[in-house]
Amino acid sequence: MTLYAPCYYQKFACIAGECRHSCCVGWEIDVDKKALKKYKRLKDEAILASIDRNGAPHFCLGEDERCPHLDEEGLCRIILKYGDEGLCDICREHPRFYHDTVKGREVGIGMSCEEACRLILSEDFTVVEIGKEKGRVRPSRFDALPEREKIYTILSDQKLSYPERLSKIAEEYGIALKADTSVFASLEYLKEENRARFVDAIPFTPIASTPKEMEEYLLRALAYFVYRHVTAAKSESEARMAVGFSLLCERLLCSLAVKENALTFSAFAELARTASEELEYSVDNTERIKFSFFM
Ligand code: SF4
Repeated sequence: MTLYAPCYYQKFACIAGECRHSCCVGWEIDVDKKALKKYKRLKDEAILASIDRNGAPHFCLGEDERCPHLDEEGLCRIILKYGDEGLCDICREHPRFYHDTVKGREVGIGMSCEEACRLILSEDFTVVEIGKEKGRVRPSRFDALPEREKIYTILSDQKLSYPERLSKIAEEYGIALKADTSVFASLEYLKEENRARFVDAIPFTPIASTPKEMEEYLLRALAYFVYRHVTAAKSESEARMAVGFSLLCERLLCSLAVKENALTFSAFAELARTASEELEYSVDNTERIKFSFFM
């Protein structure tokens, strides 16, 4: 099968000890069956003792919610000892995500990862072929690629201004870009302070008032949301909800940037990373926002 990815994908490498928001802190990591078998075979007592087997096996977080295998320099002791082969599936794959399409398998990197976010916002978005892999794809019966192409065609239409492109997409899908304060207030947040931040960003900055200097970053962020969420749609209605979710994330980022005066690349990248972590990495949050377009 053919593999596709965004143009920046192959530049991605975890920055490990340099990362200020390590995914090895604060997240409970499930250990898959194969990895558990491997750790038993290796008779690695330190690893085995760190796994809580009540319910789904997972690494018990240590002090400050750090993974017990994260050393003082921010490096993973399992990688240092066994290489990448020693990792469980989640650690090896993060922050990658996959979609099977009628053309082949697509891979991407999630914006909640600091380094992935930097790459996503640094380059204009295109999808490129990155190689072949053994195996067969199992795409859903609904082909979301034509919907996605329709959006990317509008997003790259140089005859339209950025606000006109957003309005055209919203109009095409019958989406009124009004965020519901009660939906944002009721989401689950990893960091409680983000509840007030996100709710305060409503009402969103009107499309026509988007600061010019933010357009490039917002466009790249929106292209990423569309790649991740619209491609995953399994029906026309899911595709519409995914478009709504993508546009709403874009407006949230714009409003937060305006309200918090986060207009530089690094300040905006931190906003984008936080929004992704809070909204995209909780299935409940993502679903609640998507369904709010039907209320
Ligand atoms: S968040 Fe990204 S860059 Fe940071 S430790 Fe995790 S994978 Fe590496």
